[in-house]
Amino acid sequence: MSTDPGMGQSSGLTCIACDSHKLTSLGRLPVYTSDFLGRDLDSSIDPGTLYECESCAIRFRAPQPTEDELMKYYQGMDVAECWQHGPEREVWRYIKEEVQDVPERSVLDVGCFRGDMLSYLGNGFERFGVEPSKEAAREAERRGVTLIADRIESLSDNGPRFGAITLIDVAEHLPRPLESLQRLTRLLMPGGKLIIFTGSTDALSWRLAGLDYYYSALPEHVAFVRPSWFHWAASRMGCDLVSIRRMRYRSSSWRNWIDESLKNLLYIGYHRMRRLPFVPSILFKMPLVRRIGQWRSCWWTSAKDHIFVVLTKAA
Ligand SMILES: [Zn+2]
Repeated sequence: MSTDPGMGQSSGLTCIACDSHKLTSLGRLPVYTSDFLGRDLDSSIDPGTLYECESCAIRFRAPQPTEDELMKYYQGMDVAECWQHGPEREVWRYIKEEVQDVPERSVLDVGCFRGDMLSYLGNGFERFGVEPSKEAAREAERRGVTLIADRIESLSDNGPRFGAITLIDVAEHLPRPLESLQRLTRLLMPGGKLIIFTGSTDALSWRLAGLDYYYSALPEHVAFVRPSWFHWAASRMGCDLVSIRRMRYRSSSWRNWIDESLKNLLYIGYHRMRRLPFVPSILFKMPLVRRIGQWRSCWWTSAKDHIFVVLTKAA
């Protein structure tokens, strides 16, 4: 990690949350997808560099894909995407507990997709959604969700107020995270809850993997937070930080956890060695080592690399 000498007051790049110029360049990001937001992976693609803000501690990708590129990508997402299927998610259970006592029992889910989580909450709640994918939004409406916008930016300050607003696997997609969260907080009733589930750069797996971590190698992931960022952001959103729980992206068997952990340690070790000048090249010709070198990516969804954050709007 080194401060890029090109960065500074004159370069113009500023933090996506606090606009500070004090940024540390952590290196060029890899790409772990077979394409780059629908574009072919070739030499014209700039996956961007990962920066850390010295003032608010957020990390972010720069340059970011444009809003158009991101919207087109989200709008084109297949409603049968397998990551949305499956039984109840562990994180939904925590949400259900948290929303039991919210004002008016109304919940707005930002990035609600097909309304899976809102359906899981059941009819005891008034359910609202924000969703860019038209096809997914139609499915959510069929399930009783009222769609109020296709993106956070088009939400009106004068619209309805909600008892809870949830962002599950959404904060990492926000090009201007603090502004978006401030806009959402304005739509909360006093005492209402803002509930966020996203990756944490403080996670051990992330610190081990560094730039090779899968989470920051996904092109649509542009903002990466950590608990201390929420301590910084809460007062700027007019909220109190209630709790932060470390979690896995999804619950996993011990067997899967061991399998993914071993694979990732090999993968991280391989890429670290690759960058060292004094490792003999014959090592990379050994069959096992060569095989690791052929892995395009190494997912680690069983790692405890997510945080479940609950904030309340000051009354
Ligand atoms: Zn900052």
